[in-house]
Amino acid sequence: MRTYMVAGVAAAAALMAGGVLWGCKAGGNEALAATSEPVVVTAASKPAEIVGPGAGLEEKLEARETAAATESGETRGEAESSGTAEDSTAAETSSDTGAGESREPSPTGSADPSGESQPETEPSIVRRELAFSDDFPYGEFSAIHTGTAVLYENRQANAKGITVCVNAGHGCAGGESKKTYCHPDKTPKVTSGSTSAGAVKASAISGGMTFSDGTPEAEVTLSMALILKERLLEEGYSVLMVRETADSQLDNIARTLMANHYADCHIALHWDSTTSDKGVFFMSVPSAASYRAMEPVASHWEKHNALGRALVEGLRGRGHKVFGKGEMEMDLTQTSYSTVPSVDIELGDKKSDHGETALKNLAEGLVDGLEMYFGAAE
Ligand SMILES: [Zn+2]
Repeated sequence: MRTYMVAGVAAAAALMAGGVLWGCKAGGNEALAATSEPVVVTAASKPAEIVGPGAGLEEKLEARETAAATESGETRGEAESSGTAEDSTAAETSSDTGAGESREPSPTGSADPSGESQPETEPSIVRRELAFSDDFPYGEFSAIHTGTAVLYENRQANAKGITVCVNAGHGCAGGESKKTYCHPDKTPKVTSGSTSAGAVKASAISGGMTFSDGTPEAEVTLSMALILKERLLEEGYSVLMVRETADSQLDNIARTLMANHYADCHIALHWDSTTSDKGVFFMSVPSAASYRAMEPVASHWEKHNALGRALVEGLRGRGHKVFGKGEMEMDLTQTSYSTVPSVDIELGDKKSDHGETALKNLAEGLVDGLEMYFGAAE
């Protein structure tokens, strides 16, 4: 009953279905350019505008128009003042663009200080909250999915029309007490990691390790994700954040399915639980024939590995130590359900430097790796 498509076809099909025109899948920007209306710009404080994949673009635009027409100045003030520091800054330069909008200042510094007398311009980054849907392929396998993901759609002059899902590993309260199937066909795991080979189910999402200095891994992956997000936006990527606060009620499967639906690739950020400052590597797709024959792995595993290798080379190019050959075969829930190029990258271990400078340098390596991957794919 389910069909499995290669990434490009999946993106095109999703666009034709009308559900993700604003989702920035491959070709998304072209689709956007063809519409006469700017896409909804949603403030985090307006849950009514959280949308699922089922709503069509026109429906959403209509809803937006209605919302705009009935919006009071008071509500609008709330929306602006409840934003993050970034949003507040942005609101100052765009206070006449309507309620419910949030925008980030363009990293290239194109914000117009004289604001009011200028014609309205498109926001450079459009923020939108996205809900999980049971209708996603494999949606029934997720145990925790009440949280939302946030899409930062890039409309800068340098926008690439490529959406990267940045997954800050761990950070989902209650995730260890729920179990999900390791594989969509319910077969047992073929390698041992945090869950042993042979297990059919694993924690919906684990809590992560603690660094030697006492810092929880989930805190560091979040810092890393926020830094990487900013760099990717500067480079013209759109970014899907499946977690951008301490807790995201989306388990591994939910995060993966959100990435499948809204992004062109999925990068989960992790640090390993060894204490040797071993360097960076990615979890590659197990070579077990049965695993590589299982969908959706069968149709996508080569891209997972290609993206992983590109990321490791990007990191190597920035002077990061690489562990072994830069890859370790691991049967992961993430990879088992991914239909876009998808990688669990281990950026070091418990002993690794995770200060801001180190994280920023890691982000540069990851950006370089993405450039290699998508540059080669074009
Ligand atoms: Zn981890």
